[in-house]
Order: sequence, then C-alpha cells, then structure tokens
Amino acid sequence: MAEHANEVPEPVEVEPSEEDDEQHELDPEVAARREAALAQIRTFGDPVLRTAAKPVERFDDELAQEIARMGALMGDALGVGLAATQVGVLHRLFVYRVVQGAPVAALINPEVEWAGSEKEPMEEGCLSLPGVLVDVERPIHVRVRALDPEGEAVLVEASGLEARVIQHEIDHLDGVLILDRTSREERKEAMRRLREIAAAAEAA
Ligand code: ZN
Repeated sequence: MAEHANEVPEPVEVEPSEEDDEQHELDPEVAARREAALAQIRTFGDPVLRTAAKPVERFDDELAQEIARMGALMGDALGVGLAATQVGVLHRLFVYRVVQGAPVAALINPEVEWAGSEKEPMEEGCLSLPGVLVDVERPIHVRVRALDPEGEAVLVEASGLEARVIQHEIDHLDGVLILDRTSREERKEAMRRLREIAAAAEAA
C-alpha cells in the first residue's frame, strides 16, 4: 500500500479486482451478477484497450442507452468507473460513481483542463486487469471540462478518489492503462500475474 493511502477514504481501489472475492465473501447472487458483468468487459490483450476513442458527436437515444448499459455493468461489476473502450466502444465517454448509492455520473468528451502540482501514490485496480493492483501516482486535484449526456457543458472540480477515478478513466479513452503509470518493477510483477491468470484460465 502506498505511503499516503490513508488520506483518502475507502474504497481505495479504482476498479476493484477479482482478488476481492477472496477477501470478503460476496453474496452468491451479487457474485454471479459480478461475474456476468466482468464477462462483458474487455480485458488485457484486447487491442481495443490500446486504441484511442473518438469524440462523441450525437447526443441521442442511442447514446443514452449506451450510458445506461455502462452504468448497469459498472454497478454489477462492483466498479467505481467504466470507460466505453472497456466495453469495446470507441467513444470518448465514461461512467463513474465513487459514493455507493449515489447516482451514476457520465462524462462525455472529457478534457483535463487543469491538474494541481500536488501528487499522491495509491494502489489502483482495473476491471480490465483482473487480479492486478499497482501503485499509481496522480495529481490529487483536477478540473475537467466535459459534456453531460444531454450535450450540455459541465465543469467538474474533483479531489482525492474522485479525481483519481476520473484520471484513470480518461487514460482508458487514450488507450493508457495503469501498467503504463506504475514503476518498472510493479509492471513486471503485474505482467507475470496476468500471464499466470491467462495460463490458469487456459488449463481450466
Ligand atoms: Zn480501468
């Protein structure tokens, strides 16, 4: 765990990994829903995760449905953020919810307008990298310009976990993963773990 991790309230993982299942036993129904959701989320090795998404231009029913579907998937997967690229859609949009029970927020065509100089390392997971947790250093405060699902301009000032989730998801829209944001050693260890998981899945 990173040095300053205790400054941000729980949960600290951006997108909880499958390891969680072992740590706190999930209700079987919740676990089954989570598994079904994870099966629809692209994982490491899928080239779509390395592809930059294109700006959204049409704010229609189709977009509203896409956002609703992503929000439901994120909820079922017990994640706090999900980018369109993670479900194979090359749209610059993501959904997130850092407070349990709060409505799901969607940001479209987001741009980091300003990031504070103060940075903090924290352990992050990713729904597309099940079983992997790595330390990632990011600015603590950011200001993001985006559009809402109706196409109206919004300005989001975020700090702590919310700022971290937003930066993690914007990275996805640029084809960037937490593996690119961690130390060489942690990246190596994560790659080893990913290979192990892939081998185990093949053997099963
Ligand atoms: Zn992710």
